[in-house]
Amino acid sequence: MEHVKCLIIGSGPAGYTAAIYASRANLYPVLFEGPQAGGQLTTTTEVENFPGYPDGVEPFQMMDDMRRQAERFGTDIRSGIVTKVDFSCSPKHVWVEETQELTADTVIIATGASAKYLGLPSEREYKGRGVSACATCDGFFYRKKTVAVVGGGDTACEEALYLSGLCRKVYLIVRKPYLRASEIMQKRVRETENIEILFEHNTLCLTGEGKVQGADLVFRKGEADEKTVHIDIDGFFLAIGHHPNSDIFKAFLQTDEQGYIITEPGTPRTNIPGVFAAGDVADPHYRQAITAAASGCKAAIEAEKYIKTL
Ligand code: NDP
Repeated sequence: MEHVKCLIIGSGPAGYTAAIYASRANLYPVLFEGPQAGGQLTTTTEVENFPGYPDGVEPFQMMDDMRRQAERFGTDIRSGIVTKVDFSCSPKHVWVEETQELTADTVIIATGASAKYLGLPSEREYKGRGVSACATCDGFFYRKKTVAVVGGGDTACEEALYLSGLCRKVYLIVRKPYLRASEIMQKRVRETENIEILFEHNTLCLTGEGKVQGADLVFRKGEADEKTVHIDIDGFFLAIGHHPNSDIFKAFLQTDEQGYIITEPGTPRTNIPGVFAAGDVADPHYRQAITAAASGCKAAIEAEKYIKTL
């Protein structure tokens, strides 16, 4: 059975940054890319807020740069999905697609989180052409335009407020007759002139020629006064929550009620010595490429320290 000093799961900014640091520390890391090589970032249009790219950068280019940087120092990057782990003993056991088993002194989990989508066929059709799950990433492309945000929680309110500073008008589509967000966020949204809250509305489909140009909604579905409403929009932002990709680790690692891996505050250390979590899988708050990269760096430094104790 193959044994590695440092096994990294995931190929977003956290995984590649961990790989760069672990390679330079002679941990000879093996990195499994997972189902989406390059991670969540590759679903956005352009990255303009990652330091070092003054003119912005295409997400695929940025992730390819990170990958090449990791390879340059010797990271063994493999395609494959880790499907099972056993952290009950040392070294840790990891299975790739159920068939290949490896052991590892340290494991860095950088599997990220996936934005939840409504599941509409038209949502898939317009992904990257008006449909986004990240206002901070893509809001800039909708300056002076009209957009809609779906959701009634803190994320939706935050996204709507952010977009209201850029866009001409923001619709907030809320399925219930009230917002779930904290009072302060609700107040801010209500006091913002160019945000219109559409309570008790659900999205039926998106419309447009090659890109999002509108949405058909249903008001009070199933009630006597049910009616269909059309809104003209240029962008459709999902803010109905994220799902951290932590399911296969839950039998061994502490997670919060949403499934985010709990780490010691300020560190990537999990409750299992030698297992570290970096990036969005352990971060319900910031969810930025730069914060993920920073935590990947910390995870590799911690892995190096841990190996010295073996
Ligand atoms: P939440 O789970 O709090 O809210 C999700 C929202 O999406 C709810 O309004 C929910 O509606 C709605 N929703 C879910 N599924 C659908 C669907 N299929 N169709 C339409 N609407 C749907 O997620 P958030 O990401 O907003 O927040 C996650 C956590 O992070 C929360 O604890 C939040 O407080 C916290 N957070 C804190 C922030 C801050 O403090 N600044 C910023 C962002 C998040 P319904 O209410 O009907 O269930």
